[in-house]
This record gives sequence, structure tokens and C-alpha cells, in this order.
Amino acid sequence: MKVHLSKWDTTCEECGENLKKGDRIWLDLKRKPHCLDCVELSHLVFLPTGNSALTRRAKKYSTLWAEVLKSNPSKQRTERQGLLVEDTALERAQQDCISDADPREARRERDHRRREIIDEEYTQRFTEEIRKLYPSCPAGREIEIAEHACMKYSGRVGRAADAKELNPSSVHLASHAHIRHMETGYDMLLAGGWGREDAREKFEARIEEIETAWSKPRNRHGREQAVDSHGEDTKK
Ligand SMILES: [Zn+2]
Repeated sequence: MKVHLSKWDTTCEECGENLKKGDRIWLDLKRKPHCLDCVELSHLVFLPTGNSALTRRAKKYSTLWAEVLKSNPSKQRTERQGLLVEDTALERAQQDCISDADPREARRERDHRRREIIDEEYTQRFTEEIRKLYPSCPAGREIEIAEHACMKYSGRVGRAADAKELNPSSVHLASHAHIRHMETGYDMLLAGGWGREDAREKFEARIEEIETAWSKPRNRHGREQAVDSHGEDTKK
């Protein structure tokens, strides 16, 4: 898939959300803009061009990935800004690079990236909200979901301030998307060429089931009793 940087302020064709000039968008066949939430790419993290070994590996490990393109009117062409990849794929690619390149350099790069994208205080508050909403979610997922939500906002111009306004619907949306990507075969279907609508519909009931299970109050045995459809092997 290809993602573009919006050339002007506009709105998402599907959800109507305001998109600012410079935001990452997806264009449909009629060149209408869609926000990355609506096209299911908002869980991906940005990897700028520049490190070809890292790029090649991240792409290889990512079920879904997208190229980020910016048009350059003066040269009348688009330039590649980087890739959107799954963060697990990026971490794996970075691990590979650490093991075969200069380890200090690779580690510095990874730490730099994490510092850039994670707003600790926001992530903390988001994590707490998820724990309230889904007390029985498997241990550690609330942090994963919160970090994704935080990274997502970091990719949007001027959106960081809006993201600070935590509301239940943004917490629910982030969790819903997380469950779709982590607990169902949704990404595999998309990668296999299914349309988004069909793929979403296929798993909607399953996602709601999981949400219901996660919403239950924690029992006295703690999180070990929590429902996790795939068991340990789905954990990152
Ligand atoms: Zn949208």
C-alpha cells in the first residue's frame, strides 16, 4: 500500500476527521483522502529511509507494510520518505542489525526512536484507562495498546495536543484495533488481498467476545485467569 503526506488541510472521506497538511493519508481510486485509522494502518510505525538493511528486514518481517510518499512539486515527482511497518517487525529487524552490525550504533538508533515516539506521561495515563475498561486483559497488553496509541498520534502534525485529551472512545477504539490485529487473522486476510469491509465483518463478533471477556472484573487469582485466545505465543 502507499501512504501520502497530505498537501493541504482536509477531512477523512470515511470518518470525517480533520486531517492537517503533512498528515499521513491514504488515497482511494478517486484520490479522496482517508485517515490511517480508517484504512487500518494506524498501528504501524514509521521507519524513515536511510538504513537499507533495516528497511529490507523490517519489510520482510511485517505482515502489512506501506510506503510513505511525499510529492515534490518542483521536481514533479514523489519521493520516498520511509516505510510504515509493524513495530514487532521493526524490533526484530533491529535485533538482526544489532547482531551483525556495529551493536552500539544499532542500539543507539533504537533507543533514539523509542524516545522520540513514546510520551511517557501520556502512555501512563492511557494505560491506566485501559486497565479500568479491561481489567481482565492479559498482562502487559494495556501497555502495548497505550504505546501504539501514543505512536499513532506522534505521526500526525499538531495532533499530540488532541491526543492528551483522553476519552473513553479513544481508549475503546485503540483497544478494539489492537484486538483485531493481535487476536484475529485480520492482518493475514488483508495481506492476502481481502477487502477491509469483508475482513472486518468476519472478525467483529470475535472481537466483541474478547472485549466482553477482558471487561470482566479481575478475579482473586489475578490476570493468569484472563482470556487470551492464542495463549502465550501471541505475546510480543
Ligand atoms: Zn477516517
